[in-house]
Amino acid sequence: MDQPNVGNDVEKVLVTHDQIINRLTELARQVEKDYAGKDLLLIGVLKGAVMVMADFSRLLNKHIEIDWMAVSSYGSGTKSSGVVRILKDLDIDINNRNVVIVEDIVDTGLTLSWLKSNLESRGAASVEILTVLRKPEAAKVKVDVKYVGFEIPSDFVVGYGLDYNEKYRNLDFIGVLSKSIYE
Ligand code: IMP
Ligand code: MG
Repeated sequence: MDQPNVGNDVEKVLVTHDQIINRLTELARQVEKDYAGKDLLLIGVLKGAVMVMADFSRLLNKHIEIDWMAVSSYGSGTKSSGVVRILKDLDIDINNRNVVIVEDIVDTGLTLSWLKSNLESRGAASVEILTVLRKPEAAKVKVDVKYVGFEIPSDFVVGYGLDYNEKYRNLDFIGVLSKSIYE
C-alpha cells in the first residue's frame, strides 16, 4: 500500500506535516529555555509517540536522553478507564531526573495523569508533558499538560503515529478518518 492510498481513507486533513514540524520547532525552543542548564530525559509512550519523539528530539539543540514506556489502559471498548498496566517499563533510573513525557494525543487524560504520578512516585525531580494533540475531553481530568502542539475537536484522528487498528501510523500528516472505514 503506498502513501496516497493510505491517505485516501482520510476525509479531512487536520494538521499538515509542515504545520507539525513548525509547531514542534516552537516547542523545542521553549523546552530549551525551560531546561537551560538542566538535564532532560524524554520518555516516549509507545507506540503512538514514535513519530513525535523522532522529530522533536532532533529539533532540540541540547543534550538529552530518550527512554520508552508501553502502557495499556484497561477499559471497555474504546473508552480508557484510568486503570493502567505497564507493558514495557523504563530502562533508565529516573530518580532526581527532569522528565518530559512525550505523547501523541491527550484524550480523556486518564492515562497520562496515571503515568505522571507513577513517574513522580519514583523520585523524578520534575515531570512535565508534551503532546502533539489535545482533545476537549482532556479538560475533564486535572492533568497539567505544559507543551501542547494543537487543540483539536473530538473527532477520531489518525496519522503521525496515531492508529486505527494499528494502521495509518505512517501518514506524515494528521487527519480525520472517514466514517466508512469503521462503520
Ligand atoms: P486517554 O487520554 O487516557 O483517553 O488515552 C489516550 C489514548 O487513546 C491515546 O494515547 C491514543 O492511543 C488513544 N486515542 C485517543 N484519541 C484518539 C484518536 O483520535 N485517534 C487515535 N487514537 C486515539
Ligand atoms: Mg498513545
